[in-house]
Amino acid sequence: MDTGVLVVGAGPTGLTLTNELRVAGVPAVLVDKLPRRSELSRAGGVQSRTLTALDQRGLLEPLLATGNYPTSAGHFAGIGFSPANTAHRLPWRSVPQVEIEGFFERHLAAHGVHVRRDHELTGLGQDTDGVTATFANGAVVRARYLVAADGAHSVVRSLLGAGFPGRPGTSTVIAADVRLSGAGEPMSHTWTDDGYWVALYPLGTDARGRPLRRLVLGGPDAPARDVPVTEDEIRGGLKEVFGSAVELLELRYGRRITNAARQAERYRHGRVFLAGDAAHVHLPLGAQGMNTGMQDALNLGWKLGAAVHGWAPAGLLDTYHAERHPVGAAVLRNVQAQSLLMDWAGTRDPDVVATRELFVALAELPEVQRHLGDLLSGMAIRYEMPGIEAHPSIGRPAPDLRLGEVRLHELLRPGRGVLLDPDDAFAEVAGRRPDRVDRAGVGAATEPLLVRPDGYVCWAGDPDELEPALARWFGEPRG
Ligand SMILES: Cc1cc2nc3c(=O)[nH]c(=O)nc-3n(C[C@H](O)[C@H](O)[C@H](O)COP(=O)(O)OP(=O)(O)OC[C@H]3O[C@@H](n4cnc5c(N)ncnc54)[C@H](O)[C@@H]3O)c2cc1C
Repeated sequence: MDTGVLVVGAGPTGLTLTNELRVAGVPAVLVDKLPRRSELSRAGGVQSRTLTALDQRGLLEPLLATGNYPTSAGHFAGIGFSPANTAHRLPWRSVPQVEIEGFFERHLAAHGVHVRRDHELTGLGQDTDGVTATFANGAVVRARYLVAADGAHSVVRSLLGAGFPGRPGTSTVIAADVRLSGAGEPMSHTWTDDGYWVALYPLGTDARGRPLRRLVLGGPDAPARDVPVTEDEIRGGLKEVFGSAVELLELRYGRRITNAARQAERYRHGRVFLAGDAAHVHLPLGAQGMNTGMQDALNLGWKLGAAVHGWAPAGLLDTYHAERHPVGAAVLRNVQAQSLLMDWAGTRDPDVVATRELFVALAELPEVQRHLGDLLSGMAIRYEMPGIEAHPSIGRPAPDLRLGEVRLHELLRPGRGVLLDPDDAFAEVAGRRPDRVDRAGVGAATEPLLVRPDGYVCWAGDPDELEPALARWFGEPRG
């Protein structure tokens, strides 16, 4: 074998995964077909759950130190929330995807892991021992496992013949990063009766402190996806919607996006795993694409680490699909609801208009804002796992408990499991897997919890269930 895991694609998913493998001490190779990192403007924000995961690796503070990234309470279909109703310890942050990618690439390089660029995967085979990948430049890499983080048009997915059912794109709109004059509210949606519409979202500021916006512009007879976006076209659309009240000052970047919505039937194909946009595509609403991909990677990384190190219990790798496929499906559903409420097609159908009116009124309720805020923060994710009926914490992200001088999330930084053992009752049980689970007995005012390396609680409550849970997630002790 050349390496433990071959990661194809150095977008946010592949970079996050490679870092998880590095933390797990697993040899990994990260390849990308592009000669250099993309500078395209894409996702604009990081959810609370992803920020929490970055904190659990000690990366949050260094990332936030690289720029001025405002917090936001978020929105659903452009209907904003009040920060008071969506309080998470780490609120949503407006960090552009290019900054995330640059940060991870520099962080990996500082640890001696470099993206192999100009490596376009063109061929793939697998056998009982591993995977063989071939590249357009003639390179061949043999690995125990391969992760396809190669984006929405995944070549790996095509080579596998993997099912990718869903809805094809039925229309396009323009997504552009712009500076505008006269636009008023930082977040707004405006429609005309003849099928034009504009949605505006804040995008921070440019280097001179001038406000930038993400503009989404829809209209009748929209061109196909690959037709370049022009300034005149944007000016024309703005005029249709706002008359002369809003003017385009600068177009920094623009392209067309479609409302295609698809999800891979299976995330695992033998030794090959699909993650990120290679596994799910949908309209870019609320930075869910990038965050879902990064969280796929966090779920998969430590499991692949366990497999390469040889202690993965039977079925551990299959829990990746079991846990992440429902999360991806739920994202697709909430995006469908958002696109309806946004009247994506610009129909001005009275039924849609009435539904949005009602929804806007409902979204004034703090309970509704909390529910939607949890949905879009990633904090409401609960993985189906043994014991979830027995204890409300099982399957959920672990709280960031203070344990004397340290926080629980800091204890997760080495990438091992953590057993919180406030009464020192489980020292012997925990000590059976010292390479995989750390025990924290430090005066915690908490009940005992077992937390996986990805920050999810996998045991709490019944002491008799602790050893089975350790065996299920961390394998048998070494003889
Ligand atoms: C214009 C635009 C705007 C967007 N806006 C938002 C937004 O506002 N909010 C949001 O949530 N999401 C948005 N997205 C989506 C978001 O960017 C994606 O969800 C995110 O990039 C997915 O990350 P990924 O790592 O899975 O895939 P990608 O970021 O697509 O990375 C895949 C990588 O694989 C490489 N690759 C592809 N094929 C091969 C191959 N054969 N061999 C080797 N390497 C290969 C590519 O070069 C690329 O670097 C937007 C996307 C676009 C295009």
